[in-house]
Amino acid sequence: MESLMRSTLLFLSRNKWANRAAKKYGLRLGASRFVAGVELEEALDSVRRLNAQGIAATLDHLGEFISTPEEAKEATSYCLSTLDAIHEAKVESHLSLKLTQLGLDLSRELCLANMRSILSRARQYGNFVRIDMEDYSHNQPALDLFRQLREEFGPNVIGIVIQAYLYKSRADIEKLKPLAPNLRLVKGAYKERPAVAFPKKEDVDRNFIAIIERHMLNGHYTAVATHDEAIIRHVKKFTARRGIPKTRFEFQMLYGISVRQQQQLAAEGYKMRVYVPFGRDWYGYFMRRLAERPANVGFVVKSMFRK
Ligand SMILES: Cc1cc2nc3c(=O)[nH]c(=O)nc-3n(C[C@H](O)[C@H](O)[C@H](O)COP(=O)(O)OP(=O)(O)OC[C@H]3O[C@@H](n4cnc5c(N)ncnc54)[C@H](O)[C@@H]3O)c2cc1C
Repeated sequence: MESLMRSTLLFLSRNKWANRAAKKYGLRLGASRFVAGVELEEALDSVRRLNAQGIAATLDHLGEFISTPEEAKEATSYCLSTLDAIHEAKVESHLSLKLTQLGLDLSRELCLANMRSILSRARQYGNFVRIDMEDYSHNQPALDLFRQLREEFGPNVIGIVIQAYLYKSRADIEKLKPLAPNLRLVKGAYKERPAVAFPKKEDVDRNFIAIIERHMLNGHYTAVATHDEAIIRHVKKFTARRGIPKTRFEFQMLYGISVRQQQQLAAEGYKMRVYVPFGRDWYGYFMRRLAERPANVGFVVKSMFRK
């Protein structure tokens, strides 16, 4: 039953009609629990509140389904203005983005050009840009683009995400090792075929721990992005036992999820960063969060009946 609900929600998350309809309205269906606002200014307020609690952020201007170079240009200028705003507001926040928004499906060259302008701006401000990982069909193109841009821009401006549910991820970590990459490690949020991804949660969790340990022992900066308390406990013990200093890794969580745990980790002296999504295109992101935890749907139903 739960897996049917999950598949349905992931199917709905890709529905272009629903996406367009949702875009016309402000945050609905209780989406404000997971999305910081429609406007950048609202998102910056959330970042200020997090920073005041000793928590860093990474801002993501939400966007799905672009189909023209003009739309990719528009998404690029949102990224640039977000970097400008972070700099001007003097808040502690990185930028997260998706390559499909910048035109990856239209032309690799277009996407590269858009990324170069974003990374140049980030370098100018001493900031950092993380490429989110999308579904399997974009995985290798994203890794290839990352490799090229990492070589052009050096180690401190760009990072990428590796998903534990993919069979290929362990090998990818080894292949990326010579680049000393800054990686965010996650379980993975998309619906993938058993031919490419572990179908069972236990296997995903086991592989998640394996790739976290591997990347940390390779000596490269690791962002462990999870709300899973058992994994977090494991990382704390593992880093203490291996003498890996707190400056070499961070925990990351999503805006509005496990908030108490975010505060607790920051209070314990761990680097804690929260992913803060904002923008009109909130629908697909919101549906993926519901799919991760169908219990959230109960929360949505309640919010539909509240004014
Ligand atoms: C900062 C960050 C960035 C991410 N970037 C990417 C990315 O680039 N690509 C990608 O594919 N995935 C990304 N993800 C999503 C990730 O892949 C998982 O889908 C998501 O984090 C849920 O898995 P989990 O590790 O929290 O563990 P789970 O085993 O799914 O959850 C553990 C516990 O966390 C809580 N929890 C988890 N999800 C929710 C939720 N939606 N609502 C309420 N409680 C919840 C529950 O208590 C649950 O029992 C990102 C996640 C984070 C935290």
